[in-house]
Amino acid sequence: MNKFTVRDIDFNGARALVRVDFNVPIKNGKITDDTRIRATLPTIKNLLESRARVILMSHLGKAKGSPDPQFSLKPAAERLGELLPGVTVKFAPDCIGDEVKKMVDSLNAGEILLLENLRFHKGEEGNDPEFAKKLAAWGDIYVNDAFGTAHRAHASTEGVTKFLSPAIAGFLMEKEIAIIGKALSNPERPFYALIGGAKVSSKIEVLENLLKIVDKLIIGGGMAFTFLKAQGVAVGKSLVEDDKLEVAKEILKKAKELKKEIVLPTDAVIAAEMKEESPEKIVDINSIPADMAGYDIGPKSIEHFMSVLKDAKTIIWNGPMGVFEVNKFAKGTFDVAKLLAGMKATTIVGGGDSVAAVEKAGVADKMTHVSTGGGASLEFMEGKILPGVAALTERSSCGSCSCSGSCH
Ligand code: ADP
Ligand code: MG
Repeated sequence: MNKFTVRDIDFNGARALVRVDFNVPIKNGKITDDTRIRATLPTIKNLLESRARVILMSHLGKAKGSPDPQFSLKPAAERLGELLPGVTVKFAPDCIGDEVKKMVDSLNAGEILLLENLRFHKGEEGNDPEFAKKLAAWGDIYVNDAFGTAHRAHASTEGVTKFLSPAIAGFLMEKEIAIIGKALSNPERPFYALIGGAKVSSKIEVLENLLKIVDKLIIGGGMAFTFLKAQGVAVGKSLVEDDKLEVAKEILKKAKELKKEIVLPTDAVIAAEMKEESPEKIVDINSIPADMAGYDIGPKSIEHFMSVLKDAKTIIWNGPMGVFEVNKFAKGTFDVAKLLAGMKATTIVGGGDSVAAVEKAGVADKMTHVSTGGGASLEFMEGKILPGVAALTERSSCGSCSCSGSCH
């Protein structure tokens, strides 16, 4: 990794201004899932051990640029206090202003102050330099541990770094950029991508970029039907984006030129409707009746995908293989999840629904890396530079190869 991290700094009383992702689900003032808060604990504990004065900032929910009590971060401050017994966790009623200044000034080393929702101010999403400058005033060193918002150039993820340096990575951020970054720049081969999900349209850039990097591309899920139709297969009522048939043809042609195999399903689980009650049938991919649709990959496809994946050293998986939310169409996704979980290869899962699927399959902890950033991990796989990552302070060079740091 070619970015500085919390490991590199001895804080010793310095103020760490930390962008975290405390965007947790809250119902009736109670947090229903605190995974994101717990995921940041290693970074926070490291800062406390390093005697930092820790100032945390985050967004929550869809606050629209003005205070909105239903999106207050107060419950997150309370939860953090419970997770860190013996540590003082204070909560500021705003993220800028005189009151916050007083609280920051009176904070001691080893104490935490969580600021109120950044998105109570328009300057956050607008990346307003004046707002970013006000945030920057709270810290001596900036830490970003919120990979999930790294694809957005907001005041707290990008703007702030223009006024405060060094800007360093927390452990969560470090893990995301190190593991996904290495797969994209210097993977152990064979390297295969398994791409699924609903639509080709949302994954065109992911497919195009990964095709350049991987050795084989396996396509399942709803999007496979656009590729199958592009090859002349009759896919019945299966999800097809007719306006993306040309794109699919282009990708298939490109793969041929690059001599890279694109592996598509050979059979499907079909039904008249995407419902548990709708009777299902397994058919060869060429035998989908006109009035039915494919909602999962069939057993032959699962076998085939598994045999292709067997010698992989690196696998990136994005997009479920079928409609896993409906039990009878979940087998393809869950079988693939279990296969990956049992492999020695580096296994990386990214994408909101894909992560939900591996969690539902009970194998998330068996993967090398399950990305915490849905949109951010997709943009990373598209080969885009994430503004929140680019803004972090570079080590001059990793020195040992030409990887610009991603191999470490
Ligand atoms: P991710 O969030 O992991 O990037 P997507 O959002 O692209 O994944 O796709 C997830 C959705 O794709 C799921 O809701 C799933 O039901 C849907 N899906 C998968 N296979 C099919 C299919 N054959 N037909 C219709 N929808 C599908
Ligand atoms: Mg999704």
